[in-house]
Amino acid sequence: MNPAWYDEGVRAIWSPYCQMKTAPAPLAAVATRGTRIILADGRELIDGVASWWSACHGYNHPHLLEQVGRQLAIMPHVMFGGLVHEQACTLARRLLAIAPGKLARVFFSYSGSPAVEVALKMAVQYWKNRGHAGRDRFVCFTDGYHGDTLGAMSVSDPDHSMHRAFRDVVPRQHVVDIPRTCEARQRFASFLDAHGDALAGVIVEPLVQGAGGMRFHDAEALAAIAELTRARGLLFIADEIATGFHRAGPRFACDEAGVAPDILCLGKALTGGVLGLGATLASEQVFDAFLSDDAGAALMHGPTFMANPLACAAANASLDLFEREPRARQVAGIEQTLRAGLEPCRGLPGVVDVRVRGAIGVVQLDPRIHVPALRPRFVAEGAWIRPFGDIVYLAPALVIEPSDLEFLTAAVRRVVALAVK
Ligand SMILES: *Cc1c(COP(=O)(O)O)cnc(C)c1O
Repeated sequence: MNPAWYDEGVRAIWSPYCQMKTAPAPLAAVATRGTRIILADGRELIDGVASWWSACHGYNHPHLLEQVGRQLAIMPHVMFGGLVHEQACTLARRLLAIAPGKLARVFFSYSGSPAVEVALKMAVQYWKNRGHAGRDRFVCFTDGYHGDTLGAMSVSDPDHSMHRAFRDVVPRQHVVDIPRTCEARQRFASFLDAHGDALAGVIVEPLVQGAGGMRFHDAEALAAIAELTRARGLLFIADEIATGFHRAGPRFACDEAGVAPDILCLGKALTGGVLGLGATLASEQVFDAFLSDDAGAALMHGPTFMANPLACAAANASLDLFEREPRARQVAGIEQTLRAGLEPCRGLPGVVDVRVRGAIGVVQLDPRIHVPALRPRFVAEGAWIRPFGDIVYLAPALVIEPSDLEFLTAAVRRVVALAVK
């Protein structure tokens, strides 16, 4: 049943986020098409999570393939130290033109976590270069997730996240609740005042906290965080790796609250999901703090594969599609279909909450239910849906057909109904 490469090959693989002793064997994927993943045994799964939210235009979009193919024939890669290339220059200019607020420079890396590492290093060194060496801590939020590398882990929720094992290893940061009420905002302000001298900045996933449990907050809470942070001169870092490019509704979540980040992190859907790329965008003020006659004031970071021309070509092609195709309207349609399809789960026993925002639909379950056990049931339904923590969620390609999306929400209703019996 499995292809020749599978049995011996899979024994050579260490899978992500996986208890290798007990987890079911990974499925063999042989092709992708539109919103389908095709398995070696011929089954086709409708993808409900767009390969960790990245494949926003669906798989194998001809424009993405064509532009990456074109770049492949010209220059697949070249180092970025001392050299630049057209794809990166064009992409940087285009990102700055659409990014929220007034950002002035783009630092490219190869994935989301390094984009966060770069943001944290920028923020710490910003203060150091300006003569405030002790300002090296960050405020971050309960249920937050910013990536898997050490710095990014340090600003993720230490108790609820998958990074628990490292809580005593990573630098200690200040983890507070998203200030959802007026009183909470006053407490947040007092907290910033009390710790201000030791703080570099505040990092948040705007509107939707993703891998930490898909918790939402409203634009007022986000605006308050940004205002209180920036009023104290602290750097406001927006991690839009998950929310960027219409996933949460608006092009960027910051747009909805009208907030201007000092530093913005992008990844995931940046390349339309075909290649790894991260981008850290900084304001002129942040950038200026690194200009000096002292070589030591420079930003000392430079991944080998930063600004990879293939990835930048994919990102430029993805931006073309956002300009040419009606993604914002499609997201509005997805939001409605998700609402209609998931809302019936609210009445079921064991369902704690149902929430939808943009192209994200969440059914939150009683924490006593072991949700990873539901994964094979979704596969049996013909759906690729990966519940984690206490949630079953959908974050499909923005181009998904309404009938496919209804198929997915029906699968969620059936599997959740059986799970809570
Ligand atoms: C996925 C994610 C990251 C990490 O990106 P990787 O490409 O997986 O390293 C960081 N922040 C947020 C908000 C994310 O959703």
